[in-house]
Amino acid sequence: MERRSWAEPYKIKMVEPIKMLSREERERAIVEAGYNTFLLRSDDVYIDLLTDSGTSAMSDYQWAGLMLGDEAYAGSRSFYHLVDAVKDVYGYPELVPTHQGRGAEHILSQILIKPGDIVPGNMYFTTTRFHQEYAGGTFVDVIVDEAHEPASRFPFKGNVDMAKLRALVDEYGSERIPYISVETNVNMAGGQPISMANLREVYEYCHANDIYVMLDATRALENAYFIQRREPGYEDKTIREILFEICSYSDGATVSSKKDNLVNIGGFLALRDPELAKRARALLVAFEGLHTYGGMSGRDMEALARGIREMVATDDHVAARVGQVEYLGNLIDKAGVPIVQPIGGHGIFLDAKSILPHIPQDEFPAQALTAALYVDSGVRGMERGIVSAGRDPETGEHHYPKLELVRLAIPRRVYTQAHMDVVAESVVHLYEHKDEIGGLEFTYEPEELRFFQARFKPIG
Ligand SMILES: *Cc1c(COP(=O)(O)O)cnc(C)c1O
Repeated sequence: MERRSWAEPYKIKMVEPIKMLSREERERAIVEAGYNTFLLRSDDVYIDLLTDSGTSAMSDYQWAGLMLGDEAYAGSRSFYHLVDAVKDVYGYPELVPTHQGRGAEHILSQILIKPGDIVPGNMYFTTTRFHQEYAGGTFVDVIVDEAHEPASRFPFKGNVDMAKLRALVDEYGSERIPYISVETNVNMAGGQPISMANLREVYEYCHANDIYVMLDATRALENAYFIQRREPGYEDKTIREILFEICSYSDGATVSSKKDNLVNIGGFLALRDPELAKRARALLVAFEGLHTYGGMSGRDMEALARGIREMVATDDHVAARVGQVEYLGNLIDKAGVPIVQPIGGHGIFLDAKSILPHIPQDEFPAQALTAALYVDSGVRGMERGIVSAGRDPETGEHHYPKLELVRLAIPRRVYTQAHMDVVAESVVHLYEHKDEIGGLEFTYEPEELRFFQARFKPIG
């Protein structure tokens, strides 16, 4: 069979110049940043793969929408455009707009969780767990074991382990479990999907037991793509149909619009029950803004409404988005560099523990690899290992996470395949010269969320 190449389903009308500093300048920049890529200036970065959050490129149609945004304090036309888009694409009748995802998580946690409650979820996400615990709940992980194995090629590593969920309900009773928090395309597992069959089973079980199912639908579009590719019965359905069906197995959702929705800021809580929505709106006024803007400007809501429709207008968008991630991952994988498998929806995760076995985990192999990648090619990634995991507050010892990773997150519609070639060449070059990479030690260690501001120097 003849195989043809595919290309990005857009052409470029406006460009933002970027430039690679000389190697000498990059070496100086990483020393000044204390070997921490969070402390680099973006002007010193060539290809920025720190995060895919809020870094998407908007379309001409979205930019045009900014000019048409209605900035009325109450009852903005742009708000109603957003309500209609969420109803049409996600299927939820009640919309509560927020400034970004964590705003929606805050409101949802406050209206549903009582102190002492248990909130099961398929792996934690930082801000989601924070708000569940801030409301007095305890998060319990009920994801399948495969999610914690970087080499496992299980196609639905985001699935809920039904045995773990049932055991939890048997132990605490459904009165103490207000809802299960089901994340689509699980971020901390590497962008791994939940299957439709699993989600349906979770929904049926929870409804029989009076437990709400609340989605973190931030990455539901990318999850829909994997269902189309991997789950029998969905190969001929459109992404739009699959996304709508995902949401049909839930009572509501929190969404950070900085991801799938193709805008730089924004988010929402969407619900089916008007009574729950009423309670959410009562809190919204105090924490986010009036119920018809919730922390977004009119133009933000207009661009968001357009982004939501655009992401499902054809299947080509998400196929190219995840396709670009797969393109980069395949180049790296074929060269024999260990990465988390299968390749996920939003980035490539280099397995620093396997790449740098000569660096003990308390000399920060993923941090060292992230810094070395920047020095080699001006590419900025993020450490997701022992530095991010922090210390045990009781013993003062490091947490030693099983996964010691470098994350290369791909912004949507921002870079071309040629940029991906440059990234892959640099990763492969480092792998071939891995013995030259040494460990690091702290010169400054913050007490809280240390990965953001920590500083390091090479050992010896
Ligand atoms: C980014 C993200 C959030 C938090 O959203 P913010 O807009 O950054 O507040 C929540 N859940 C998931 C899965 C995310 O990726």
